[in-house]
Amino acid sequence: MTRLFKNGSVYYQNKFVDSDFLIDDEGNFIIADKIDLLDDDVDEVIDCAGLTIMPGLVDVHTHLREPGYTYKETIKTATYSAAKGGFTTIFAMPNLNPACDSLEHLKMEQDIIDKDACIHVYPICSITKGQKGRGELVDFASLHNECFLYSDDGVGVQDETLMKQAMEQCAKYNSVIIAHCEDEKELKGGSLNEGIASRRFNDPGINNASEYNEVIRDIELAKQTNCQFHICHISCKESVEALRKAKQEGLNVSGEVTCHHLCLNEEDIDEDNGKWKMNPPLRSKDDQQALIKAIQDGIIEVICTDNAPHSKQEKDCPIKDAKMGIVSIEIAFSLIYTHFVKNKLLKLEDVIKLMSYNPCDIFGIDGGEIVNMEKANLCFFDLNANIRVDSKKFASMGKSCPFDGKILNGKCVMTIVDGNIAYREGV
Ligand SMILES: [Zn+2]
Repeated sequence: MTRLFKNGSVYYQNKFVDSDFLIDDEGNFIIADKIDLLDDDVDEVIDCAGLTIMPGLVDVHTHLREPGYTYKETIKTATYSAAKGGFTTIFAMPNLNPACDSLEHLKMEQDIIDKDACIHVYPICSITKGQKGRGELVDFASLHNECFLYSDDGVGVQDETLMKQAMEQCAKYNSVIIAHCEDEKELKGGSLNEGIASRRFNDPGINNASEYNEVIRDIELAKQTNCQFHICHISCKESVEALRKAKQEGLNVSGEVTCHHLCLNEEDIDEDNGKWKMNPPLRSKDDQQALIKAIQDGIIEVICTDNAPHSKQEKDCPIKDAKMGIVSIEIAFSLIYTHFVKNKLLKLEDVIKLMSYNPCDIFGIDGGEIVNMEKANLCFFDLNANIRVDSKKFASMGKSCPFDGKILNGKCVMTIVDGNIAYREGV
């Protein structure tokens, strides 16, 4: 199948160019000045007038739920949902059943990915057996040929010595520790940020120290072990400062922030419903401002979703009874475009870096830019279209979303993965 795309604006070689392009029958992207074709020579001509074509988005933090929790989401629905948001590559956290903690369990997950995923998926293995944040480490020696990403996302690795050993192993095998930093000593069973939100909803609260204690500890361990270290879902200003210092020291560390921590703060919580519960919680306005500044300054280089589908029963209930996590992957780009590009806090080029180029660069994977004569991994957005967020219409089985009802700018109309159409609507 050969397709010719006409009249679009393409982000090519670090600038937007008005150029036609072709995707040949091998799935390669070919820019127009390199082709000489009549419309008749191609199988389909797609008019992209008014559309912005960018490198496919990359989300380094998602939860697939399969194997083990297919009542929440399947790999099929999760990856289609991601494609609907413009994503061509995602990383999948290992908190599955069984946890992705051995070659056998990794293969179980990979087999379903090979069968059902419509985009690229990188499974992340856990750091500890059973992804418990304690106990025994996984066998990095047997895993490292198949996987270079390790995380116990959902829990922090509590024991410093254990984390140090994990980092030594990852340093040895050129792998990356992706840490959910959470010091359980600081936890009191809360669901919301300690402060305005916890007082308002009479919750024990979750303080900033529960995050930054481990961020600071793990940066120090990364320094001692020379391990590449990536911090999950940074939510508070003290963690940003720790990352800033580590970068000034030249350490091989990076961090991500979720769309919801950038776009919301604890004062937005307007009802006692599970759609407001996630870990880490929505923080103070001050923390939110520090996160926004961190993406502007390049201290935090990656925007992710932490897309975490759950069933209706697990989420549509009072905050204290709900599971942690929300879904946003189908609207992630539109959220960032609306809040930051439309308000002139970021340029569109910055968003492409934060949501596509940087994740690929940091983790050393393919993607992040459109390259002539290489496999086409693209997203097509109509930036003039508005969408009204309606979680009932999400392709994901997860429907719990704090942005429900909001009007956003920018709509994904097509996503192409290795030259194949993974998602298409209205174009
Ligand atoms: Zn996490």
